Amino acid sequence: MKAPVRVAVTGAAGQIGYSLLFRIASGDMLGKDQPVILQLLEITPALEALQGVVMEIEDCAFPLVAGITTSDKAEEAFKDVDYAMLVGARPRGPGMERKDLLEANAAIFSVQGKALNDVASRDVKVLVVGNPANTNSLIAQQNAPDLDPGQFTAMTRLDHNRALAQLANQTGCHTQDITRLTVWGNHSSTQYPDISHAQIKGEPAADKVDRQWYENEFIPTVQQRGAAIIKARGASSAASAASSAVDHMRTWALGTADGDWTSMGIPSDGSYGIAEGIIYSFPVTCKNGKYEIVQGLEIDTFSRERMQATEQELVEERDAVKHLFPN
Ligand code: NDP
Repeated sequence: MKAPVRVAVTGAAGQIGYSLLFRIASGDMLGKDQPVILQLLEITPALEALQGVVMEIEDCAFPLVAGITTSDKAEEAFKDVDYAMLVGARPRGPGMERKDLLEANAAIFSVQGKALNDVASRDVKVLVVGNPANTNSLIAQQNAPDLDPGQFTAMTRLDHNRALAQLANQTGCHTQDITRLTVWGNHSSTQYPDISHAQIKGEPAADKVDRQWYENEFIPTVQQRGAAIIKARGASSAASAASSAVDHMRTWALGTADGDWTSMGIPSDGSYGIAEGIIYSFPVTCKNGKYEIVQGLEIDTFSRERMQATEQELVEERDAVKHLFPN
């Protein structure tokens, strides 16, 4: 058995947390030979509910759980953590503008960025799930000058998985048959799920679907899937978000399959002409705990317009919170 690693989860008593913690604890994220110490952060009023979740984790007697801590202080929860999953975020309240939401979350994520900077493992891998995830990740990163900016990522894996599911349903294949699908941009309704390089059993996916379906059904369905789930279930998606968070971390830590890639929100290095610095979802391969942007993909005019629209939204989000960056 390996030495335990430390995994922090914020918003641990929330809906996503309730699915996520049990998946991490059972070894779905880092492997069945990797013990974990769970370090759970919540706001003070949610600590009692969190205690109930801890009791349930204990009652599972998971072989891989080597310890559980809880706290309402980021410096305690992030101490020496190897993985930080930032799920807790301020939900949009009645009458709240997007700008207010960005600012309310900026306060949370700047504190958490500073704490990661001060006390986390120097190799910590950070995933932001709490919305607006891409810009929250940027705020945390800007407050962590001693860590590599590339250690901060945002989740678009759920969008990626949703796109796989839609394409598989439409073509009658299994999601496992599909490779090289990309979600570009923001985890929001401007995201661009792109099948132009995707393959189904090694054949171009675009040849297997009608262009009208792709433009008028596939793209909006993936973009609006969160809202469709809220309408049907009466609550926002939680288990699927948790599952995709597990996928994101597992792929980052353990790698992508040969010949395939995944989608991750990562700091743009200017690839594909995307503004440097914003946390933008790109196609990436992962190996030995590092990710790399897939280079050299041909981008047609249709794709370019959509990639730029979601880039524009992220630039505006960044500009709305820029005054809160320390430098
Ligand atoms: P959830 O666990 O359902 O959601 C948490 C965050 O994940 C929200 O920002 C949500 O965005 C986001 N999210 C990202 N992708 C998805 C997706 N596909 N589907 C659904 N959500 C998605 O929220 P709860 O309110 O149940 O729990 C949040 C917990 O966080 C609470 O227990 C609260 O106390 C805690 N909290 C902790 C903080 C901290 O640790 N410092 C700070 C703030 C809150 P969206 O809102 O857009 O659905």
